[in-house]
Amino acid sequence: MSAGAADRLGGMRSLLATVSDLHDTLALLQWDQQTCMPGAAAGGRAEQLATVSRLAHERSTDPELGRLLEALEPEADPETDDGALVRVALRDFRRATRLPSELVEDLARATALADSAWAAARQASDWGRFAPHLERIVALVRETAEAYGFEEHPLDPLIDIHEPGMTRARLAAVFAELREALLPMVRTVAEQPDGREAPLHGDFDEAAQEAFGREVVARFGYDWRRGRQDRAVHPFCTGIGPDDVRITTRFDRTFLQTALFSTLHEAGHAMYEQGVSRAYARGALAGGASTGVHESQSRLWENQVGRSRAFWRAFYPRLRELFPAALQTVELEAFYRAVNRAAPTPIRVEADELTYNLHVLLRFELEAGLLEGSLAVADLPEVWNARMAEYLGITPAGDAEGVLQDVHWSSGAFGYFPTYTIGNLLSAQLFEAALAARPEIPEEMERGAFDALRAWLAEHVWRHGRKYDPDDLVTRATGRPMEPGPYLRYLREKFGELYELPVEVAAEA
Ligand code: ZN
Repeated sequence: MSAGAADRLGGMRSLLATVSDLHDTLALLQWDQQTCMPGAAAGGRAEQLATVSRLAHERSTDPELGRLLEALEPEADPETDDGALVRVALRDFRRATRLPSELVEDLARATALADSAWAAARQASDWGRFAPHLERIVALVRETAEAYGFEEHPLDPLIDIHEPGMTRARLAAVFAELREALLPMVRTVAEQPDGREAPLHGDFDEAAQEAFGREVVARFGYDWRRGRQDRAVHPFCTGIGPDDVRITTRFDRTFLQTALFSTLHEAGHAMYEQGVSRAYARGALAGGASTGVHESQSRLWENQVGRSRAFWRAFYPRLRELFPAALQTVELEAFYRAVNRAAPTPIRVEADELTYNLHVLLRFELEAGLLEGSLAVADLPEVWNARMAEYLGITPAGDAEGVLQDVHWSSGAFGYFPTYTIGNLLSAQLFEAALAARPEIPEEMERGAFDALRAWLAEHVWRHGRKYDPDDLVTRATGRPMEPGPYLRYLREKFGELYELPVEVAAEA
């Protein structure tokens, strides 16, 4: 590398470190807002967030940063850390500078108004209150897609923000395969008598719930010296630098599942952040490869691990010890069946592993239709309900538990929903690859140990941060790009046994 290049690299790193510090500061302000900020501080906090956001945007679009990155690009070898840093930072820079500032402002204003309108509309289950706001947002999101540029479909550049390299067409093929395999399974499960979830309802002391979650994620390998757990209405994980990755949860005294699985889920996100190479701190390679890859880590620990028989063989005795009254008559097998109960529900966030991706499919199809203009906002509730009936066999009681249930569209987040399904698919694909490489994993899990699994994930996923794009990362880790096969194998095996599905329903096509 030339002396000039070394200087440019140093200059770029210093500018990126400032951007990173500002983003971490925003994360800390937001964490505080959602966990412990006094309610009266909301107005002041909005100003602080706006100021730091503006500074972060100014620094990340600094023309000097652009000049350095453009000059460094021709020499950058993406196999090296420095080369990957230049590649990823240049992509971030181009994305941050591509939108005209009037469009950014229009969108910020429209989503701020839409957000309160959506909350009121959902409260009243009144679609008409939200529809005009969504009309405006769809128009602005469509403009955004055009400003980013696309060849095939306006959803492509929006998906690419969360999932570099992914397209609508590729997702459509994945969803078609999922749909064909899942519909008959869901239909057969829905015909069976329900009630398996009963052991999870009762009276469960919150302090004991909290103690159990903390013990489990410590065994997973969440580093409590570099993290903490607090309460939040909507659980989340936030990284404030490599030595401060926090999780939150929410407790329901009458339903054991809520805090338990949200804790395992958020710890999965957090271990990923804690496992990124320290060399990437304060730079563009810190963080996860994509939203979907991030979600694969939370789902893997929540589902592949936390809803497995092996896991509960290790941890059920301890859970019973903490809740003797509620669980003394519940056998391990009944508990395992309870945490894996599957049944169609109108609400996405309450959906189980079997039905979840059909909720995402529905939203993915509707978003594509809205953006390409083949679906009008006015027709949305009707189409929503028709697809719910087709995919899940149920009709929402009203728009509040139908088309108005999610916050995403009011905040302009089109192209985000598929990352949930990508997370599910990758959780199975990565877990399958880990099992093939380290066959001792199930036997370790039965002892409540996770060393081999953690080591495999750290080596093949976590340490790389954003160095590789999702397909590249997944191919290096599993030998193939993302595909639905492993997830479908996992579902067929698990639910085929749990629900005694007939071979023609649970067999591979
Ligand atoms: Zn998540």
